[in-house]
Amino acid sequence: MNWIWVVLILFWTGAFAWVADTARGALRNRHERKLERIEAAKQARLAVEAANKPPEPICGCAHHLAKHDKTGRCHERVEVPTAWDENKKPTHYEAGQCNCQQYVGPQPLSQVYAEELTDRI
Ligand SMILES: [Zn+2]
Ligand SMILES: [Zn+2]
Repeated sequence: MNWIWVVLILFWTGAFAWVADTARGALRNRHERKLERIEAAKQARLAVEAANKPPEPICGCAHHLAKHDKTGRCHERVEVPTAWDENKKPTHYEAGQCNCQQYVGPQPLSQVYAEELTDRI
């Protein structure tokens, strides 16, 4: 009579292990799907934010619009090479002005806004 119990116990532990395994797998899958959903929502939010934000007004000379004056000249201080080695690599630098002639980056939207018209007398 004893061997039946042994077989039954072996069967139960095996079945229990299988059920536990399946449950764990299902939980893990659900967790992964949830993470994917969170990640997708984050990406969508970032895309919306990027679309609403005006582009940074950076000129082709890599300097900000604020560094350019009314005539378009760039006033950013830059390092100008004054000496080169035999491999044409600059060895000495001197402080100089960026020789950009005109700002070519994106123009920021005007910050001026019009007051709403009212018919108050
Ligand atoms: Zn420039
Ligand atoms: Zn510049």
